[in-house]
Amino acid sequence: MGKRYYCDYCDRSFVDDYEARKKHISGSMHVRLRKEHYDAFRDAKTILAEESAKVPCKRYQQTRECVFGTNCRFSHYTAEDLMNLKMKVEGEEERLEREKYTRLDLDHDDGPTLTSWLQKRSKMKTSKSTVEEHKPKATVLWELPPELQEVPDLPPSLQPLRVEDFTNAEFETWG
Ligand SMILES: [Zn+2]
Ligand SMILES: [Zn+2]
Repeated sequence: MGKRYYCDYCDRSFVDDYEARKKHISGSMHVRLRKEHYDAFRDAKTILAEESAKVPCKRYQQTRECVFGTNCRFSHYTAEDLMNLKMKVEGEEERLEREKYTRLDLDHDDGPTLTSWLQKRSKMKTSKSTVEEHKPKATVLWELPPELQEVPDLPPSLQPLRVEDFTNAEFETWG
């Protein structure tokens, strides 16, 4: 048994002669694995943008072979490859987004109080409606019916509710 050539990219070995090596190196499996190896070092988002902008390589899509290999100016990515890449990129973006909010939450050392919850909520709502922001702070959530307005010393359950009744309640945590 003669010398054997071992290919790192493909994790396989074969008889080391010129023809066999040449055949292996231009083989689609080797080219793909080699490209995958180097692509792992590149930003998936960059690849997605590049490959999406390219026209698919007709030769490669039909035969899985293309003499231009990784230098081909057309895309060797299939629609499925692009979809998988897109999901990977979106997954990565979601992960970064989650990390951002986790860090944001850690910045508040006062814990999840109702006040911070209301602040967060009002920030979320600003895109939908800016009207609410201009309301005075002492917004009456529930108006007393006229017939009760003149009655002194109403029981607490009948007193009008105000935002302050909630925000001033010093809940440290929920639950
Ligand atoms: Zn190989
Ligand atoms: Zn090609």
